[in-house]
Amino acid sequence: MIDEFTTDENCAIALDSRDTLSEFREQFYLPEKGTIYLDGNSLGLLSKQAEISLLRVLDEWKIHGINGWLDIEKPWFYYGERLGAMAAPLVGALPEEVVATGTTTINLHSLVSTFYQPIGTRTKILADELDFPTDIYAIKSQIRLQGLNPEEHLVLVPSDDGRTIDEKNIVDSMTDEIALILLPSALYRSGQLFDIPYLTQEAHKRNIPIGWDCCHSVGAVPHKFDEWDIDFAFWCSYKYLNSGPGGTAFLYVNKRHFHKIPGLTGWFGYVKEKQFDMSLEFEHAKSAGGWQISSSNILCSAPLEGALETILKAGIDNIRKKSIKLTSYLIYLIDEILTEKPYNFVVGTPRDPNKRTGHVALEHDKEAKKISESLKHYGVITDFRHPNVIRIAPVALYNSFHEIWQAVQIIKNIIDRK
Ligand SMILES: *Cc1c(COP(=O)(O)O)cnc(C)c1O
Repeated sequence: MIDEFTTDENCAIALDSRDTLSEFREQFYLPEKGTIYLDGNSLGLLSKQAEISLLRVLDEWKIHGINGWLDIEKPWFYYGERLGAMAAPLVGALPEEVVATGTTTINLHSLVSTFYQPIGTRTKILADELDFPTDIYAIKSQIRLQGLNPEEHLVLVPSDDGRTIDEKNIVDSMTDEIALILLPSALYRSGQLFDIPYLTQEAHKRNIPIGWDCCHSVGAVPHKFDEWDIDFAFWCSYKYLNSGPGGTAFLYVNKRHFHKIPGLTGWFGYVKEKQFDMSLEFEHAKSAGGWQISSSNILCSAPLEGALETILKAGIDNIRKKSIKLTSYLIYLIDEILTEKPYNFVVGTPRDPNKRTGHVALEHDKEAKKISESLKHYGVITDFRHPNVIRIAPVALYNSFHEIWQAVQIIKNIIDRK
C-alpha cells in the first residue's frame, strides 16, 4: 500500500479522485469553512439523514403527543429494538441481540452486574491499565457492590510501552481467580485494536465470560460478535456512529444468555406485550431488550436512525477499507515529513492496519498539548490526550485525503515557525 503514496499534494488529489465513498462527504454538515475536522472519534458530525430523523421525531411529538409511543407508523415504544436491529449488521449480531438504550457507562454497569458473579476463589475482574477511566471507575464500584475490595479483586494487565497491551500478557492473566474479563475493543489513546476472537477463545477455554467495550471501533471496524461468540458488548453512538452529543448507546447480549436475569432491572426490560399489565413480578424480555431499564430516550435516539441509514448505505466493509487507507496515508506522511529533527514526532499507533482502529496517535514528547492547541488555531480539530498524544481521526464518511495532506503541512508549519 505504501507504494502508492508520495508526499506530493497531487498524490492526495489522486487518492480522492479514486475514493468510492467521496459522495458521502456532501451528506454531512462540515464545520465552518476552512476547518479540517479530524475528531470524529470523539464526536462524529451531523449528517443530513440524522437531521431528518430527528426533525421527524420532533414532529411526531408535536402532532401526536402521547400517541407517539404506540399509535404512529414507527411507535417510539419499539425504538430501542428497532435501532438495535438496524445496528446488528455492523457488529455481526442477530437483530434481537442488540438494543439502543441508555449510555455507555450505564450499559457497562448493567452488563457487568449481570455477568460478574464471584464464587469461591473465582472473584476477580480482569481489565487493562490503559483502559478508558470510566470503565475502571465502574468496574471498581461493581466490585465494591459485591462487598469486595477493588484493590484485591481488579487485575489490570500492564502495558510494556505505555501505548499498547501485549495480548499474550492478557492471556497469561486469565487465571482461575478471574470471574469476568472486560476489555476495550480498541485502546482510546494509541488506537490499538485487540484480536477479539483470539482473546474470546482463550477466555472461554478457561470458562471465563468476556465482554467488550467497543466505543472506539463500532462504525469504523466491522465486528462479528456471534461468530466470535463473545458474551456481551456495549458501545456509544456519538463517536464513529455520528448520533450526536450524548446520543443513546448500544448493548449486545449473546442469545445464549437471554435467560440470565439482568443485574439492573427496570420496566422497559419487561416482556413487551405484557409491560402495560403493570405486574409487580418482573419478567424480562428474552432478548437484548430485556436489559433496558427506563423509558427510551427518544430524542437522543432519533438522530441515530438517520446516522445508521447513512453508514449502512456506505457499507461497513467499505468504510473500513477507506479508513485503513486514510490512516496508512497519514502514518506515511508523518514518517516522511514529521519524524526527523526538528519535528521529532512519533507514531504511537500500531503499524499493522489490522491492529489499529480509526485514529492515529501522534506523539510529541514535550509540546503535544501546545501543538494541539495551535492546530485548533489554524482550524485543524484534533484532540489531546494526556500526557503526549494528539489523536487524529480521519473518518471515512466525511474526510478526504487532501485534508490529511493539509493537516500534516500545517503541523510542519507550526514547528517551522517556532
Ligand atoms: C467514549 C468512551 C466511553 C464514554 O462513556 P460515556 O458513558 O458515553 O460517557 C466509555 N468507554 C470508552 C472506551 C470510550 O471510548
